[in-house]
Amino acid sequence: MRGTLSPFEGYSFMQDVKNVTSLGCTYAIDASRCNGCGACIEVCPVDCVCIEDYRACFSPLATTVCFHCGACQSVCPQDAIEESL
Ligand code: SF4
Ligand code: SF4
Repeated sequence: MRGTLSPFEGYSFMQDVKNVTSLGCTYAIDASRCNGCGACIEVCPVDCVCIEDYRACFSPLATTVCFHCGACQSVCPQDAIEESL
């Protein structure tokens, strides 16, 4: 049976994606600092941050759609989103 394929087909949407690399930059969310406020999710222009078990994580698509704008990192009140070049 054919139907509309989700872009997350084959994934559990809330997959355990803790790090995302794009444009040579790696972002990681420190779950021990994240309080699940959702600010990073609200600000991401390409909707590639999600919540799993009350903590932020990157969706599988983040590896291709994140364009390194830094918005998620800049709004985080917990300094939970780290970047390394
Ligand atoms: S750097 Fe920008 S595009 Fe990438 S996850 Fe953060 S808010 Fe989204
Ligand atoms: S903004 Fe920071 S504290 Fe809030 S959900 Fe995102 S990573 Fe967690």
